[in-house]
Amino acid sequence: MFETYLEMSGFGRQATLTPVSKSDLLRMCSGTGAAFSALVEKKLLTTHEEEVERLPLVTATANQPSTLSEAQQAAFEEINTSFESHDTTLLHGVTSSGKTEVYIHLISRALKQGHQVLYLLPEIALTTQLTTRLRRVFGQRMGVYHSKFSDAERVEIYRRQLSDNPYDIILGVRSSVFLPFQRLGLIIIDEEHEPSYKQQDPAPRYHARSLALMLARRHGAKTLLGSATPSIETYHLAQQGRYGYVSLTQRFRGLSMPEVEVVDVRRLKFQHRMKGIFSQQLLDAMGKALSSGHQVILFQNRRGYANFMQCRTCGWVPRCDRCDVSLTYHRQHHHLSCHYCGAIYQVPDACPQCEGHDFGDVGMGTEKVEDAVHQHFPDARTIRMDIDTAHTRHAFEQIIDDFASRRYDVLIGTQMVSKGLDFAGVSVVGILDADTMLNIPDFRSAERTFQVIAQVSGRAGRAEDGGRVILQTRSADSDTIVQAQHNDYLAMTATQLEERQEFHYPPFTRVINVYVRHRDAKHADLLAADMARLLRASFADRVLGPDRPAVARVKSMSVRKIMIKLERNASPRAVYDILMKVQNRLMQQPSASGVQVYYDVDPM
Ligand SMILES: [Zn+2]
Ligand SMILES: [Zn+2]
Repeated sequence: MFETYLEMSGFGRQATLTPVSKSDLLRMCSGTGAAFSALVEKKLLTTHEEEVERLPLVTATANQPSTLSEAQQAAFEEINTSFESHDTTLLHGVTSSGKTEVYIHLISRALKQGHQVLYLLPEIALTTQLTTRLRRVFGQRMGVYHSKFSDAERVEIYRRQLSDNPYDIILGVRSSVFLPFQRLGLIIIDEEHEPSYKQQDPAPRYHARSLALMLARRHGAKTLLGSATPSIETYHLAQQGRYGYVSLTQRFRGLSMPEVEVVDVRRLKFQHRMKGIFSQQLLDAMGKALSSGHQVILFQNRRGYANFMQCRTCGWVPRCDRCDVSLTYHRQHHHLSCHYCGAIYQVPDACPQCEGHDFGDVGMGTEKVEDAVHQHFPDARTIRMDIDTAHTRHAFEQIIDDFASRRYDVLIGTQMVSKGLDFAGVSVVGILDADTMLNIPDFRSAERTFQVIAQVSGRAGRAEDGGRVILQTRSADSDTIVQAQHNDYLAMTATQLEERQEFHYPPFTRVINVYVRHRDAKHADLLAADMARLLRASFADRVLGPDRPAVARVKSMSVRKIMIKLERNASPRAVYDILMKVQNRLMQQPSASGVQVYYDVDPM
């Protein structure tokens, strides 16, 4: 608030502030220059240079963004040139290349031209860290919009955007593409590869990136897509010249890219050389980091303690009553939970099948990793970051804050730890299991695995003395792992594009998933088969399935999936009409009572 106020007034030198009452603050922050003078008169604000060291320091920047490095400046100019011939440009900048600084300069430029700017971020990356940084430059010209806002707050921003005094900049999550703009000139989509830009459930299932591009077209605005690991779709369009392309290959302040060391867990297991869940290599690296006062991040993309429990006598596994999945054991609360419907179950005393009492657990989640760290490093202060510990924005930021200020030595987390966070103290990143992601049966699993490894690795080596990334995997010789090891984005993209072309996947086609749901599994089978037959009458062999999705029953509803792969130039209108016609025919059947059909266009 202090900073904001100072910048609002264009106060251009270092200043120190003495504490003021909350009501004073509120008055100041809502006021203009007059309030500022009043504040100086009340001696709430002093500008004595000698006090700078002792008192809480606020650096006022007089609305000037900081100077760009040579590489950043070059990228900034290239982007501007690119915008002369392209409405959309991709900024492909390695992790820690200082993309945000480039964005800030682009925003300043757009504001000078009298434009409004929309700056989109995936929810989780929208931290106070970034907001403060932008506020320092743009002050109250920027409004923040996120999903935790109340309806009243949303309405207020919405109204303000329609008023004579709209925010010049909106920093927001995907839903801010629905806000009104009067003179939008620039949209920045940071971390454009993030799947969370797609709203999955509930409907409307939209991709904020696509909507943002439509919004830009309507306003004649330019769009900048930024990422260290662009989505293959975006990269492909840039390759074809449909988007402009600018790269930023130097890390900021001359940091080097961390080296990724691959540890072949399959071989070590075979030789009985794994130390529980850790390899000796990772333990050594962690030990060295901790003893020299550095921090460690461990990435395990699964929360809870164990993936599931199992009766050691008969092999029985507790499953959700309503979903076709095994339950995850959470030791912290000593319960079992379904990660699909959220249902909580007690841990059974005895096996319902054999009445035995000998339960084991299979697989590892973040809780188990934390346990293992304590076994090897009893003095290490650990903290977990997953949906269980960071379920609110506040909790999430608290963890980031605590870890950044070194109240903890080891951060154990799911994908949440990969999202563009800056921790200067981290010298070792351990990736415990990249295979689970890699083995998901989805055409994007290789791309996703590469992105996550690259993003998590990027958290290391922000400290001056570089960093180490240790990647434990059972698939040490898979293309994706080798490409991730060398941070070879171009090779990964080439491999994936070739495969997708061969098997007709995006970006070469458009995919629509059709889901048929029914309370009764047999009905679901029959109706999905009918639906597929009706679809084939129009779409022929573009229709695949029906299949059972990985989890074929969720919340007591059996789900079947039909995939349609369409040519990229297929008319959306014509496709929509066919889908509706087919759906109506299906619904007319007497057996269709109770069926639910829904569509996911461009599924993520
Ligand atoms: Zn049993
Ligand atoms: Zn369930």
